[in-house]
Amino acid sequence: MADFDYICIGAGSGGIASANRAAKHGKKVALIEAKEIGGTCVNVGCVPKKAMWYGAQVAEAINLYAADYGFDISVNKFDWKKLISSRDAYIERIHASYDRVLGNNNITVIQGFATFVDKNTIEVNGQKYTADHILIATGGRPNFDDVPGADLGITSDGFFALQEQPKRVVVAGAGYIAVELAGVMHSLGSETHLLVRKNAPLRNFDPMLSETLTEMIQADGPKLHTQSVIKEVKKQDDGSLAIILENGETIEADCLVWAIGRSPANDNIGLEKIGVELDEKGYIKVDKYQNTNIENIYAVGDCIGKVELTPVAVKAGRLLSERLFNGQKEAHMDYNLIPTVVFSHPPIGTMGLTEPEAIAQYGEDNVKVYNSSFAAMYNAVTAHRQMTKMKLICVGKEEKVVGLHGIGFAMDEILQGFAVAIKMGATKADFDACVAIHPTSGEEYVTLT
Ligand code: FAD
Ligand code: NDP
Repeated sequence: MADFDYICIGAGSGGIASANRAAKHGKKVALIEAKEIGGTCVNVGCVPKKAMWYGAQVAEAINLYAADYGFDISVNKFDWKKLISSRDAYIERIHASYDRVLGNNNITVIQGFATFVDKNTIEVNGQKYTADHILIATGGRPNFDDVPGADLGITSDGFFALQEQPKRVVVAGAGYIAVELAGVMHSLGSETHLLVRKNAPLRNFDPMLSETLTEMIQADGPKLHTQSVIKEVKKQDDGSLAIILENGETIEADCLVWAIGRSPANDNIGLEKIGVELDEKGYIKVDKYQNTNIENIYAVGDCIGKVELTPVAVKAGRLLSERLFNGQKEAHMDYNLIPTVVFSHPPIGTMGLTEPEAIAQYGEDNVKVYNSSFAAMYNAVTAHRQMTKMKLICVGKEEKVVGLHGIGFAMDEILQGFAVAIKMGATKADFDACVAIHPTSGEEYVTLT
């Protein structure tokens, strides 16, 4: 029976980051993975999604903007298979790079599905492994709806496995994944329907973002169906799907993608045997140091259901290893003020409180909101206009910035630098004191009046 200082279950964003950091501090580490190194982000998440989003950006440049920049383009065809193979080759290079780093750090990588035998023992393929410390970083899995015929649809996992471009796609859901995948498919030329069950996509984001995105989708994007709930899915004789809505409408499509949220992937690893506490949705309960209720068992990433983003899992995993193996007794993840981007069309960047949240927390009189709306130069030059909208939410006399939101060209790349300033406690005056970079969209944030 092999014995380790630290076993990490799940070689996704959190598990790999924590394992590497522990090994750097001289620990004997095992990393167990049931599927592919890199987890959701690398294989069926951020990376393939962003590669396809870039493909969609190229399509938009050709279809919407090239002519006004003087290019007379005729496109022979769009080759889905080529995009997929470029994307997958890139993912293979990431796998190779992970393997190299894990090898250099002398981490034992074990392929297989891990279950707990007891609080210090893990079993994989009939083999037992022990460790003083065990990290659960098993991530999540996509939800399916339970209407009749739901399993005729696929989830984001199935989407990334598509070898042919579906001509007609229905995407059901209203969060990050629904908006991103529907946008990509529309830009790449599929007839795309986005079905949201309430009034708008991204309802929990700042209202300016949700409203502007809705307008932009209605103007340029996939066909948006609001208040639309799927009642049943049927396969037709020609192999296509009939997607029947509760309002009586039927949409015919070649592919249905469920993007209706995710659930923790820790229901089958023997947690009940050792008594690890879960919340009512099945997420692992942890304290601010990522400790579960069982000594020396920890959890990070999507399986704790706090903020389901790759850099969050990575940071929490690394900080845990700093605390356990490098004497940084107080090291822990700060889950406040986390910047995030939705790779919609155009992208959204958002951080901190929404306007309603700021008002609820500080009172209307203490909140000052700065707004801006303009056409980014990239598409102000062209006949096809697309607005950029930005918002800064400040509180108190000193106008501390507690929220920054934007939708528009390059917003995905603009946010990170401002996130540093906000995390440091910047005020509106600090923003104003910074000289603008001209001509950019980002400069708008330091010239708001
Ligand atoms: P995961 O990365 O899911 O890794 C968990 C690993 O554990 C998996 O490889 C799994 O196979 C393995 N595992 C599970 N159970 C066992 C077991 N018992 N034994 C062995 N191995 C096991 N985040 C962003 O920040 N930016 C984005 O642009 C972004 N885009 C996304 C797009 C999509 C379509 C999806 C689905 C997610 C996206 N995310 C994005 C979220 C991000 O992928 C996750 O937050 C992140 O991967 C979570 O990391 P993790 O380590 O918690 O879990
Ligand atoms: P989300 O939780 O973001 O959104 C799912 C939404 O779908 C819900 O908010 C709900 O919206 C709607 N929904 C829920 N159940 C149903 C149902 N039965 N039928 C129709 N609609 C339903 O989940 P995602 O799956 O989009 O993404 C999971 C997480 O992964 C994200 O929260 C994010 O943390 C991460 N992610 C990050 C990305 C990024 O950083 N760019 C990209 C992709 C994912 P409503 O109540 O309004 O109907």
